[in-house]
Amino acid sequence: MQQQAIVVNEPADANGLELGQVPVPAPGPGQLLVKVAATGVNFIETYQRSGVYKVDYPFTPGSEFSGVVEQIGDGVQNYKIGDRVATASGTAGYAQYALVEAKRAGKVPNAVDLRIAAALPLQGMTAHYLVHSSYMVHSGDVVLTYAGAGGVGLILTQLLKLKGATVITTASTQQKKDLAKAAGADYVVDYDQVAATVEQVTGGAGVHAVYDGIGKDTFETSLAALRRRGTLVLFGGASGQVPDFNLQRLNAGGSLSVTRPKLDDFLATEEEMHWRFGDIFGWVAAGDIDVRIGAQFELAEAAKAHAALESRATTGKVILVP
Ligand code: NDP
Repeated sequence: MQQQAIVVNEPADANGLELGQVPVPAPGPGQLLVKVAATGVNFIETYQRSGVYKVDYPFTPGSEFSGVVEQIGDGVQNYKIGDRVATASGTAGYAQYALVEAKRAGKVPNAVDLRIAAALPLQGMTAHYLVHSSYMVHSGDVVLTYAGAGGVGLILTQLLKLKGATVITTASTQQKKDLAKAAGADYVVDYDQVAATVEQVTGGAGVHAVYDGIGKDTFETSLAALRRRGTLVLFGGASGQVPDFNLQRLNAGGSLSVTRPKLDDFLATEEEMHWRFGDIFGWVAAGDIDVRIGAQFELAEAAKAHAALESRATTGKVILVP
């Protein structure tokens, strides 16, 4: 059986995302074939499409999607056809049907819409590990982050507030600032106001931690914002990757720490994945955190979705619907 899927044939700009016809894959041992309800669009797919991250071409992006189990591979115990599932670790999700290892998927609570379920796993579990594992936030910490109205940003701010932190964040437009404020951020400022705001809020001491997903453009500001023994969690490069760095600067800056994590390493075991997945879906089902879908595109419009993300035109989550 054939299906529609997005195919990238070589490193390219957003226009390299072309709608094609490909076979529906068959689930191998331990795998689920999912009829996709919605696919989450993430920055990593722009890095893969453009060649910043290495992939084999032709390539169908998409690790995050939700849907209904259509077929089950040999040896799968805990799922049945018709189950509502979501994942951050599937393959080729820019399609009508996609595969995921059963142990890398989770069941979606009935209270959570499948479109929200496509918007939550990757950015939600990222915010979860940032706050609980990369730098463990304590009540009373003052924390700096950026892009407070972004996909990760909106969820991260809500988790930081649940932990009792004071949150300083940025946004580039008034609409984005309003969204970041509504998510609970204490201070939402322009990028060029970060240093002054950190100075004022911390009385010159600096913040306990910075979560920086912008990278090249913000790295220096992030380092300068830290207090003695503060931690910089560099988790992305929306503005470009940070160039090589002299470690002695961490000593001179006050025994600082810098870490450069990625989600896969914080979903290292089935138990760890289910802990994070269960927490975030539970919080959404209970109404403790809110997930904003800022834009929805048809599968054939994947190029528009990437262009919107890369041009800073989006808020919250971007999803594709086949
Ligand atoms: P966002 O929805 O946050 O979109 C990126 C935002 O960054 C923009 O909307 C914009 O907000 C801001 N930005 C600032 N400078 C630029 C620039 N030069 N180009 C583009 N955007 C810029 O994206 P995501 O939530 O999907 O991802 C945020 C970051 O998190 C990315 O770097 C991504 O790679 C990273 N990430 C890392 C993971 C990990 O495990 N390491 C996992 C998931 C995501 P504004 O206009 O308000 O400035």
